[in-house]
Amino acid sequence: MSVPARSAANSNAAPAAHPAATPMMAQYWSLKAKAGDCLLFYRMGDFFELFFDDAKAAASTLDIALTSRGEHGGEPVPMCGVPVHSAESYLARLIKAGHRVAIAEQVETPAEAKARGGSKALVARDIVRFVTAGTLTEEALLEGRSANRLAALAQVGSEGEVAIAAADISTGRFEVVAVRPEQVDAELARLAPSELLVSESAEDVPEWVARQVVRRPQSDFSSAAAQKRLETFFGVQTLDGFGRFGRGELAAMGALVAYLDHVATGQPIFLQPPLKHQSSGRMAIDAATRESLELVRTMAGGRDGSLLGTIDRTVTAAGARLLADDLASPLTDKAAILDRLDLVDGLARDALWRGELRAALRALPDAGRALGRLVAGRGGPRDLAQLRDALGGARLLRERLARRPDLPPLLARLLPGLDGHGALVDELTRALIDTPPVDAAQGGYVAEGYDAALDALRETARDGRKAIAALEAQYRDRTGIASLKIRHNGVLGYHVEVPAKHADALMAPESGFAHRQTLAGVVRFNSSDLHEAASRVTQAGVHAIAAEAAHLEVLTEAAVSRREAIAASCDVLARIDVAAALADHAMSHNWCRPDLADEPCLDVAGGRHPVVEAALAKSGERFVPNDVSLSEADRLWLVTGPNMGGKSTFLRQNALIVVLAQAGGFVPAASARLGLVDRLFSRVGASDNLARGRSTFMVEMVETAAILAQATPQSFVILDEVGRGTSTYDGLALAWSVVEAVHEVNKCRCLFATHYHELTRLAETLNALSLHHVRAREWQGDLVLLHEVAEGPADRSYGLAVARLAGVPAGVVKRAEAVLAKLEAGREKTGGLAAGLDDLPLFAATLAEAPAAAKDALREALAGIDPDALAPREALDALYRLKQIVADGR
Ligand code: ADP
Ligand code: MG
Repeated sequence: MSVPARSAANSNAAPAAHPAATPMMAQYWSLKAKAGDCLLFYRMGDFFELFFDDAKAAASTLDIALTSRGEHGGEPVPMCGVPVHSAESYLARLIKAGHRVAIAEQVETPAEAKARGGSKALVARDIVRFVTAGTLTEEALLEGRSANRLAALAQVGSEGEVAIAAADISTGRFEVVAVRPEQVDAELARLAPSELLVSESAEDVPEWVARQVVRRPQSDFSSAAAQKRLETFFGVQTLDGFGRFGRGELAAMGALVAYLDHVATGQPIFLQPPLKHQSSGRMAIDAATRESLELVRTMAGGRDGSLLGTIDRTVTAAGARLLADDLASPLTDKAAILDRLDLVDGLARDALWRGELRAALRALPDAGRALGRLVAGRGGPRDLAQLRDALGGARLLRERLARRPDLPPLLARLLPGLDGHGALVDELTRALIDTPPVDAAQGGYVAEGYDAALDALRETARDGRKAIAALEAQYRDRTGIASLKIRHNGVLGYHVEVPAKHADALMAPESGFAHRQTLAGVVRFNSSDLHEAASRVTQAGVHAIAAEAAHLEVLTEAAVSRREAIAASCDVLARIDVAAALADHAMSHNWCRPDLADEPCLDVAGGRHPVVEAALAKSGERFVPNDVSLSEADRLWLVTGPNMGGKSTFLRQNALIVVLAQAGGFVPAASARLGLVDRLFSRVGASDNLARGRSTFMVEMVETAAILAQATPQSFVILDEVGRGTSTYDGLALAWSVVEAVHEVNKCRCLFATHYHELTRLAETLNALSLHHVRAREWQGDLVLLHEVAEGPADRSYGLAVARLAGVPAGVVKRAEAVLAKLEAGREKTGGLAAGLDDLPLFAATLAEAPAAAKDALREALAGIDPDALAPREALDALYRLKQIVADGR
């Protein structure tokens, strides 16, 4: 599937210029041309209005009324609008639904317009901002605990050099990675961008990799232009200080920066210098594997129920974002993994220390995103206070940690990254009140004692207000009207107010009061004393606000100029949070520190699946731990056993253990030892995987082919019921040859779950393959699934036990036993699935012994099922049983 080229995407292009277009329509169309395929929010008074197709799209997404306004080319113009004051929530919904929005504001006042072009002049409007999923900085529109990435995919040269640049502009993090074409999907799946930029000439851009794919002009992707653009953006003479970049990397970064320039329309943008992401130091995990293992999000798209959602105990939003990155991209560098493990270990051993550290971190605000808003010119006093509190807290933390004698080496190396903000923190502490407002407009956020002149202005205002209060008492005295009040409002400013029945006294010419306004019950006056006191208050107030704004600007500049050091400190805090969170979760769930071996092995004792275990725990059920032991001599385990027996769970838990270990965390097991995995693959047979809605068997084979092409002796592969998506014979044949290839060619560690018992014959020829099964037992007529992995192949009687359980008549089961015995005898001889069927006595011949079996097994089994009495899971099982009856040819 690919996204239509840009020209076709914009169905909202201006209709051929209509001669009778009004000036407003002309202005609208010129803005719409600038907005491209973004929805245009056109400011009119207190509303943003949308017209034509934009209006139709917005009205249906937002579920608001679609009306019309005037005519264009003889047709009514569709229109809808959203109030400016609540625009943000509408924007959030539009972005979520996959739209991008261009905001056109009035850029002059009506008076200015009149002065410019006479009384009929239209107020000038311009696009002041684009709001797109990948470029949000608004706190309200962002999810604190997840990164929000914009990515650009560039391909240069005939060699097909491909690179991806990705930025989270809410924190300034900017990375770039060069990839081989076949790795593009995997990298994009790791980054999970909310918006992806591709060249308008790019072909075959898969739609599902990003919520939104945006086509940009080819010129944005020129690597030559990119170099200049990046140098200008970062204000450097050369990019050499950031590293050496290939043409593809330059093109991707350049396209990303060009787009940011375009959407920010002149506003500053926060990007840190680009980091080259080393895919070489990372475990390769392709998109299908990520999806099936549900590392950071479930197949349904949520965070809950994923590995991340289950184990996340971070106490800061930045920690949560880093943990997601870690799980999405485990390491392959042993030293780096050991560094992280040592830190987790140190924190795991000392619960008191861990508790203190976590309490301290929990109190820190999200400084990374506060900094992002300040750099983007959208920050305020509250953001500065957040920096003050976070960096000040970091300083205390640093002092406390430095006193510990046995710091894990990684922590000792990280700590200096918290230094150097003392002067800024002190300045902010002196300058700001404790909890300043988000918005600077009303002032009041600069602390007393920071600026003597400001204090004097505030004093003047206070004195003025006191004088006004004194005047009120004085006027009551003088007029004898006890209900006289001095009030303030936006229109009249300070004024005297008396009930209408007392107004006459003040109306008298020599009263000293001047009439201003008569309302239903009250009459309002001014006086020269009051006017004088009031203007002192107002003047001082205006000056005070201006003085505060000047301080805000200087303080913001001071923070912004240290942005890279601040961002680095935020990273350090996040790393500590992640380690403490992993340690905390490990301790409360009895996890262990994994050992890293130098040879390709995977030895796990008492391994568990954290997500399944957590789900079972909710209903008070116990998870049965299982061991695995893969080595060079025994590297392929074939796991058989009844449906629902725990095969898939066993496979996945071992893949998750590998991911957790190489992300530098403890693992859900009693003990674990593994040789580092370079590539991890997980495949699930098609019928377990309907959610993806593609031609499932085709997908299954494409994905399996990728494993056969890419898995190395250092890789770990789990194959779950591969071959299930097609007919029995095809499926068995394919599963058979895939196992052989994995064993003979790839020589990787592999767990292969299958319902084809015939595959167990492979153990005779493949010496590094061994047979295992999930145990089940019949007990008092019930089939008990033990969820226990044991050696050897499964014995086959459970299919029949299940049939009996399901109410298949005894005669039919008996008949089935006869058929089975025959099949098995035949298989002994030939090894074929259906071998031996030829000399099977006809079904009819056995009717005499088993009259109850007169109907065919399938009908009987069906008749034994009461759909109304089945839970969905049981229904699915029943379906599998029925399919099995057909497959077994019974
Ligand atoms: P299979 O792949 O063999 O059909 P699954 O792995 O899907 O079986 O497991 C089916 C259900 O059995 C799971 O949803 C879970 O509730 C339960 N289960 C699986 N493994 C275990 C285990 N080790 N301990 C306890 N319950 C388990
Ligand atoms: Mg399964």
